[in-house]
Amino acid sequence: MSTHPPKTADVVLPPATIGILGGGQLGRMMALAGRHMGYRFRVLDPTPDAPAAQVADGQVVAAYDDVDAARRLAEQCDLVTYEFENVSAAVTDALSHACDVPQGSELLAICQHRVREKATLARHGLPVTPFVPASSLDDLGVAFEQFGGRMVVKTCRGGYDGKGQWMVQSRDDLVRHAHEWAQAIDRHRSAGFDDHPLIAEAYVPFQGELSVIVARNRRGDVRAFPPAENVHRRHILHMSIVPARYPADVIARAEDIARRVAASLGVVGLIAVEMFVTQDGQILINELAPRPHNSGHYTLDACATSQFEQHIRAICNLPLGDVRLYSPVVMVNVLGQHVSPLLARMGEMPSHVKVHLYGKAEAKRDRKMGHVNVVVDDVAQALQWVEGFGVWDEP
Ligand code: AMP
Repeated sequence: MSTHPPKTADVVLPPATIGILGGGQLGRMMALAGRHMGYRFRVLDPTPDAPAAQVADGQVVAAYDDVDAARRLAEQCDLVTYEFENVSAAVTDALSHACDVPQGSELLAICQHRVREKATLARHGLPVTPFVPASSLDDLGVAFEQFGGRMVVKTCRGGYDGKGQWMVQSRDDLVRHAHEWAQAIDRHRSAGFDDHPLIAEAYVPFQGELSVIVARNRRGDVRAFPPAENVHRRHILHMSIVPARYPADVIARAEDIARRVAASLGVVGLIAVEMFVTQDGQILINELAPRPHNSGHYTLDACATSQFEQHIRAICNLPLGDVRLYSPVVMVNVLGQHVSPLLARMGEMPSHVKVHLYGKAEAKRDRKMGHVNVVVDDVAQALQWVEGFGVWDEP
């Protein structure tokens, strides 16, 4: 922690207006947390009545890459933050000319590109999944040999929830996916990017996945929330379990790595660090998200400070909040297909289950519509409840 309290002038005080680029659930929960503190919010999102706009003071209805609209948002705000990382350089540039953008543009540029992200982390001595940048099918063939015939190929930009990702376990897979990779390379070049379009990563036969949300404010104070143990289904986050069921030394190393990421990259705001725990207990960073993260939703009901309040504190340069875990908790995502069964059972919801719904109009399959936090004395109890409640039975 800093020993030099900042001058009040360095702190953005309520009722300052905070602009949020993106009007989804992360923006909504940020605005809800910030409103408790007395801040005002304006949101830019193409969909009228977007989840965040429903709880904000105003919305600019425009595409995320609309530079004029971004400038209009910035002119109405004291500072601007974002709820996703794929913000174009032209937009961040326009924003930063019109108002304060505490998170800057450098971190976004790093997190928008998987090779840049991993190379930067490796340069800081942080452990990452072994990777090879790829610009051609030949590069992927070489990587396949280097990784002993098992690798994961990903698009460097724009992939999420397993989209733009291919598991390769044989030469047949190399042939089978060649056409899609050629198309991905073409799309990347047509979009005007001259960096690597693809990355090949060693396949990591991990025992599990952890994530740590860490906050850093402008004066350099850093605090990490307790690591979450993440369970995915079909590449989409299904549950986060806290405390994570790993030995204390693994937990401590995960927190330490996350704090080092925040300090090394000069983060202001939150950064989510997703990691693999290998069979022999090593930790490798898989990816970063420079914003609140789905795996940090448990903090809303189980921690002294939520990740959303912490983000507001960090970008406003306030002292960071207490990250203490008050209770074991399991967060379960409510996807489009879970909404009807959940609503049908709302009348039977136990008092220790906290339901959060995001106000999205259409419950499409796999769309993140909400989450529940099951706050209990031990996580085994919560997992049993999730299994027995009947809402999350696949498909
Ligand atoms: P990502 O989009 O990078 O977060 O990857 C989505 C999911 O795919 C991860 O949460 C893992 O379950 C799996 N995955 C990604 N990269 C690898 C890898 N190198 N080895 C094994 N599994 C991976």
